[in-house]
Amino acid sequence: MSFQTEVKQLLHLMIHSLYSNKEIFLRELVSNASDACDKLRFQALKDDALADGQELRVRISADKEANTITIEDNGIGMSRDDVINNLGTIAKSGTAEFLQSLTGDERKDSQLIGQFGVGFYSSFIVAKAVDVYTRKAGLPAAEGVHWHSAGEGEFDIEPIEKEDTGTRIVLHLKAEESEFADTWRLRNLIKKYSDHISVPVQMLQEAPAQESEEDKEETAPDWENVNSAKALWTRPKSEISDEEYQELYHHISHDFGDPLTWSHNKVEGKLDYTSLLYIPKKAPFDLWNRDRVRGLKLYVNRVFIMDDVEQFLPLYLRFVKGIVDSNDLPLNVSREILQSDSTIESIKTAMVKRVLDMLDKLAKKKPDEYQGFWEEFGQVLKEGPAEDFANKEKIAKLLRFATSHTGDAKQDVSLADYIGRMKDGQEKIYYVCADNHQTAKNSPHLEVFRKKGIEVLLLSDRIDEWLMGYLQEFDGKALVDVARGGLDLGDIDTEEEKQAQEKANDEHKDLLERVKSLFADEVEDVRMTHRLVESPACVVVGDNDMGAQMRRIMEAAGQ
Ligand code: ADP
Ligand code: MG
Repeated sequence: MSFQTEVKQLLHLMIHSLYSNKEIFLRELVSNASDACDKLRFQALKDDALADGQELRVRISADKEANTITIEDNGIGMSRDDVINNLGTIAKSGTAEFLQSLTGDERKDSQLIGQFGVGFYSSFIVAKAVDVYTRKAGLPAAEGVHWHSAGEGEFDIEPIEKEDTGTRIVLHLKAEESEFADTWRLRNLIKKYSDHISVPVQMLQEAPAQESEEDKEETAPDWENVNSAKALWTRPKSEISDEEYQELYHHISHDFGDPLTWSHNKVEGKLDYTSLLYIPKKAPFDLWNRDRVRGLKLYVNRVFIMDDVEQFLPLYLRFVKGIVDSNDLPLNVSREILQSDSTIESIKTAMVKRVLDMLDKLAKKKPDEYQGFWEEFGQVLKEGPAEDFANKEKIAKLLRFATSHTGDAKQDVSLADYIGRMKDGQEKIYYVCADNHQTAKNSPHLEVFRKKGIEVLLLSDRIDEWLMGYLQEFDGKALVDVARGGLDLGDIDTEEEKQAQEKANDEHKDLLERVKSLFADEVEDVRMTHRLVESPACVVVGDNDMGAQMRRIMEAAGQ
């Protein structure tokens, strides 16, 4: 059979761009084997026939002479259809867009590929050919499957008789990669990448050198655990190194890069659960696909239950990756139960708080890193005030804007910074919305603010006007669109200025009437204004009308 076109492209790219990082193939294969064990453990909860009492484990061996590595698990295994679907196609949504976004620059592409998650196909970085022997738990021995490919566009598939269930993968290493067919090297890699994996990863015990030939034949090979095989999040924080946290992150997020920060918490008492939440450094390529990106894994009493649970965190925090391990939920919990369970609601509230606090702490202690976070995920966080009204104030603290203070397009001013620079007598926070930063910056509406030295937030993200509609105020100060209605600058305008304006309206009454009659169909009113310094006229939106940016969005949506 032929690989899906995308697989061919990905294989080609991966082999070239991950060359300097080739050892990750082992992490990916062990990660899959461990997932397979987790899945079987979960299935066996519902189906006794699948629980045969065997300890779930992953075994790794190498044959120097044959130049092969074998990775074997007794997990869930695959049927013929599973094999074709999983090892011949890429099911991920957005694959085509992903491939288009690649630049041909190896360094950048390897970053991107890391975010995409290369998984099984990374075998071909070091192997010239790969054999997969597998049998799905619950299927008879005759329904084993053998898959073979040299990674060049095609794979063969045939039925085989397989004695045990689970999957055995044999990598036929390229001649120049023979260094990996070395047990010492493999042990080190397992320690480095897979120590946190909760199923045992085993290798053959090194045979004592003096053992005689007869002894060897009699005793079955002894497998020993190479990793610590303990769910990382169950260990006390003080005993876990940063490297271990980072490796767990790689495993659950499929992201090659390191996380920006994380928060590990054990909660006991009324609720009983552990959470380990990570903020990634880089946004995944499919961040904007609101259906896809969910990074939480649910465990119940350390048993893996499901991926991508969406009940624990709101959409605007969809960039968070991590695990939740609850002792209060039944092992047979389903998505439907999760939706209606009241403990979930309490855990969710606590987790949202946890994430917002983690970001707040980062913003205070490491502003540079927070700025990096904002540039990757700020737009998602801006969905927050609309989705999570209860945490509006907390989210507002985390927002960053471009303002007329610097005039720079970089969004790095917090509302607190803004308030700190407010003029005497200024009671409101002013903003202007436009299609892009340049237009916002050059808006005639800003003239009077510039004259009086008042800072204005320059908003140009598509979501901004919508965000402001929900934010409304911060720290007791109203957020005001400068392009709206009668602009009242409160105490900043002097009495004289106010009087001068009234006088001007009187004096030019006839002119105003005349202009108004000329534009009778276009405008509601024509007034003298003090908000312009250099421009002769400008158009403003009524206090209760939809903003210009919002109107364009609605029009584009055909409303
Ligand atoms: P991912 O792990 O991100 O889903 P991979 O490319 O690593 O992507 O694996 C693709 C799929 O192949 C897995 O989702 C799984 O369904 C299947 N698979 C891979 N390895 C195994 C294995 N050892 N046992 C059972 N299924 C496996
Ligand atoms: Mg995988």
